[in-house]
Amino acid sequence: MRKNVRFLFFGVILIFCTLAGSLSGEAKQVSIAYSIDMKNPDSHYFNVTMRVQNFQKKYVDFHMPVWIPGSYLVREFEKYVIGVKAFNGSGEMLPVRKVRKNIWRVRADKAKTIQFKYSVYAFTISIRNSFLDRSHAFINPSSIFMFIKELKEKPVRVKITPYPSWKTISTGLTASRKDPFTLTAKNYDQLVDSPIEIGSQKVLTFSVKGVPHEISIYGRGDYNPDSLIQKIQKIVRTEVGIMKDIDYSRYVFLIQFQPRGGGGLEHRNSCVLQMDHQALQSGKRLDRFIGLVAHEYFHNWNVKRLRPKALGPFDYDREDYSWLLWVAEGFTTYYGGRALLQAGFRTPKSAMNSIAGNARYLVSTPGNRVEPVDEASFDAWIKYYRPNENSINTTISYYSKGAVIATLLDLTIRHETQNRKSLDDLMRSLYQTYYKRLNRWYTEKEFEAACEKMAGISLKPFFRRYVSGTDSIDANHYLNYAGIELYKKDFTHEDSLKGYTGLRIVSKNGNAVVKTVLFGSPAFRAGIYTADEILAADDFRISAGDIAGRLQEKQPGKTVRLLISRRGIIQEIPLTLGLMPNTKFAVRRIKKPTALQKKIFESYFHTKWEEKVNPGADEKKCL
Ligand SMILES: [Zn+2]
Repeated sequence: MRKNVRFLFFGVILIFCTLAGSLSGEAKQVSIAYSIDMKNPDSHYFNVTMRVQNFQKKYVDFHMPVWIPGSYLVREFEKYVIGVKAFNGSGEMLPVRKVRKNIWRVRADKAKTIQFKYSVYAFTISIRNSFLDRSHAFINPSSIFMFIKELKEKPVRVKITPYPSWKTISTGLTASRKDPFTLTAKNYDQLVDSPIEIGSQKVLTFSVKGVPHEISIYGRGDYNPDSLIQKIQKIVRTEVGIMKDIDYSRYVFLIQFQPRGGGGLEHRNSCVLQMDHQALQSGKRLDRFIGLVAHEYFHNWNVKRLRPKALGPFDYDREDYSWLLWVAEGFTTYYGGRALLQAGFRTPKSAMNSIAGNARYLVSTPGNRVEPVDEASFDAWIKYYRPNENSINTTISYYSKGAVIATLLDLTIRHETQNRKSLDDLMRSLYQTYYKRLNRWYTEKEFEAACEKMAGISLKPFFRRYVSGTDSIDANHYLNYAGIELYKKDFTHEDSLKGYTGLRIVSKNGNAVVKTVLFGSPAFRAGIYTADEILAADDFRISAGDIAGRLQEKQPGKTVRLLISRRGIIQEIPLTLGLMPNTKFAVRRIKKPTALQKKIFESYFHTKWEEKVNPGADEKKCL
């Protein structure tokens, strides 16, 4: 009995100690809360206060990200920051000194509370920046909210005070039940990955498999809401059907109509889509919009969850290099196209045209023979996002070439598995393994191993030649797996008479100025430079408007005397015209397919082999 009493006594002490420990632990819990207001939208300044509690250090560094994930360019968001001040809990000012371009150091002297205040100028219309004017506020958190490196994993709270007449907020972040303008994120990464639209935007909703989706629409656009919902919903359903999983509880499409808008940016459970006012009318622009939706939405798997090493967690202070953007972006481009085909927005014939278009791009881009696509990924920061006049000669788009590699791998897997597996199985398997089970990124080696496992063959030569090498791709070797082939349409008589220079011209006040000289082209051999102004050909004045026609009407082999102005000095340069390269690629079905080729064709293009694929003149000729 005494023993029992003693146990009870120790038990009480133990409970008390645990409780006291947890209470004191809670009292010392570090917390981060941002508050942001936009009192004067005409000034384009957001005013931010970052309140940090119980992070008691002598010095505390506040970092502004220099880039936004998904767009691989150092954008220097810190350059928009002004008026940095810090205070302790009693309102006494704490000394602040800038120690790097994007880092402010506060001498906190172990203050229990730090209030770090600053304003950010936001007036760039872009999916990658923030914006504030009388019509709306768009917050891309990486360009607004600073962070403390040691506290990046801590939960954060954001209290937004909107401009008084604005009642609507759209974001992937979770809002407080009582106040839609109070948001929480589980850590800084999630905050950065959740853009916020505030204003009077329209909000449409739909659901897929019981999961709510929102479409927030800022700006005036010419569209029918029901048709817009129906199109986006179709894309979501199709892609969910491909990946067979929805890993979010809510998804938000943030659409912005802008005068010259274009482009999208992916986030974990949202995306930003910018387009011009008429983009949803019909025809090619509508196709582009649907394609953009399909691309950005597919990123919620490929990149946001299934991600190469280096694409999260991020280092916001500097570049995060990845050799695998050709998978992150190229495969997403590929799946954007696949979704359009499966959802019926693209015909099998236009899917074939897209293959031909990619072939044309690779053949007519000299950079394809210079830079491997994995290196183009790594160099995205200095090349793809910072192109110059020579880019076409030195680099290749990891979007387009990545999509080509995806096509080749898809057809290889289908062929090697007797059409039992496809790239869809590979993507699902990678997603299940690295995101769902291991909850981490994948490496290049792991990606290659997964491809080999799915295809059941060694793909080392494939990766060596086409991914880390610049070998010319034997397209028909792969296309034949699906009973199709790439071919060049015959040159017409007129084509064979057109003179070719290899120049890309831009108009400057109507004058013809050289933008690019293709490597190895007749103009390159003649010694024409970028920025040369072409004044005349064979003594006749020439302008930007007529130079193409005037030079093309001269026959290949003929030498033209070009009068140019180079850095203000007039000189004459003879240019011998070449024969126009034939890049009139097209894709057609082969004549005698095997049963497997037919099977692959039918599952790949979602159509029967017997069906006519909208044959054009060439198609008729070959069938
Ligand atoms: Zn993308």
